[in-house]
Amino acid sequence: MTVLHLVNARLAGRPDRPVDVLLADGHVAAVVPTGAPLPGDLDVGYTGPERVDLDGRTVIPGLWDAHTHLTQWAMVRRRLDVSTATGPAHAAALVGAALTDERRHPAPGRPFVGFGFRWATWDDEPTSEVLDYVAGEVPVILISGDLHSAWASTAGLRYLGIEHHPTGLLREEEWMPASPEIVTVSAADADELLADAARAAAERGVVGVVDFEVDDNLTAWRRRAMAGWDLLRVRAAVWEQHLDAVVDAGLHTGDVLAPGSGPAADLITQGPLKVISDGSLNTLTAFCFDDYAGFAGPDAHGILNVATDQLVPLMTHAHASGLRCAIHAIGDHANALALDAFEASRARGSVEHAQMLQAEDVARFAALGITASVQPEHAMDDRDASDELWVGRTERAFRLADLHAAGVPLVLGSDAPVAPLDPWFAIASAVTRSRDGRDPWHPEQRIDVATALAASTDGRGVRVRPGDPADLAVLELDPLTLSDDGTPTGAAVLAEVLRELPVAGTLVAGRWTYRGF
Ligand SMILES: [Zn+2]
Repeated sequence: MTVLHLVNARLAGRPDRPVDVLLADGHVAAVVPTGAPLPGDLDVGYTGPERVDLDGRTVIPGLWDAHTHLTQWAMVRRRLDVSTATGPAHAAALVGAALTDERRHPAPGRPFVGFGFRWATWDDEPTSEVLDYVAGEVPVILISGDLHSAWASTAGLRYLGIEHHPTGLLREEEWMPASPEIVTVSAADADELLADAARAAAERGVVGVVDFEVDDNLTAWRRRAMAGWDLLRVRAAVWEQHLDAVVDAGLHTGDVLAPGSGPAADLITQGPLKVISDGSLNTLTAFCFDDYAGFAGPDAHGILNVATDQLVPLMTHAHASGLRCAIHAIGDHANALALDAFEASRARGSVEHAQMLQAEDVARFAALGITASVQPEHAMDDRDASDELWVGRTERAFRLADLHAAGVPLVLGSDAPVAPLDPWFAIASAVTRSRDGRDPWHPEQRIDVATALAASTDGRGVRVRPGDPADLAVLELDPLTLSDDGTPTGAAVLAEVLRELPVAGTLVAGRWTYRGF
């Protein structure tokens, strides 16, 4: 039994005095006012082995990131970040500066990899030459912030087996077949990087993630379970190309992947089937009803990757096999079609991203009980691209307030590595729609702190209740006491406070995965 002593009681639903939170067998056994007599059967354990003085710190249900590509994130944490580049020359300069450090040179036979550029709003087109100028014979491959394209130097193209390319900017089908070579590492290296990334997540109060890594996740996560993974709960999604193995194993969403593999085996469970139905905003491939501003032609409203007549049978099969479905849809048309497919297949699950929505589809999310899994930080990353490419319709982008008001189940995520795996970034952007001191973007779509927190705790809300899993975050600040004064400056300040919200400790199933006090 662990006793968390003298906890700030507001989030435990006790407004007046501190409480003690008793943990036993991986669950919250009781929440009692400090000093009050305990329920009979708990009395014995109360003086038990571990009593942790929290000195009035706040305890909330632990945080979840509902959309990650965990291995990609673990690798990106070690890659050159070129997300601040304002154009090809700027990105090349960042590469050139990094390459002046010998230690950052790639191992022989490997490319130098950078990540995060967003070329849709650049004035100049990326070319191989501009990278050649700074990198010479070092193969350079930069992956775009949305993972849907890459930009390579001449040596980088050669590394990818491409002898001649008109620009060096590889989009969608040009890049996707080449990408596994660049975006994968050996299993042993990946697992080491993952453990490191998971420790960093625990330091931010994270207790669980949904992993949408493009991989044979059943094999990968069973291996990690056997190796004693115990840092985070993981719901491992399955892709269509690996679906048979999951179905043959009789695994339903929520089932433990490797029962009996160790004391923390039940942290790793089967996630949903993931299907990518359209592209992304920055690659001009999110499938919309209207053309991208300034573009014309057959694909000017985006690209649908999976037609409805393929999607419905696939989702029907998954549903019949006990799997939830997570359907990637960014454009408003892709979202409408995803909801059609949920309706036709009767599948349960989520739409991932749900970035641009028609009003009637907000209502359909609610009517069908489909979860909207949204990444609020993308609203900040993409506000300029949205204003430029979705002119006149950005009031329909990232409709968090509308979704919440309609009663749609809402969960927040990062889509790491697209945004950093830190739920406080998502919460800050959802609550303020502001970052870097800028005025809030469509502030009418803000949600309050309690709503954003509740969308980050896997449906547990903001309070700690007996019977819940002892997945908890200990905070130095009570986030529910934070609000802004309604001014743009106030929003910008609140955004910074929430992004940096100090986390003191994290427990998963009653075990400390991070303790910083
Ligand atoms: Zn994703």
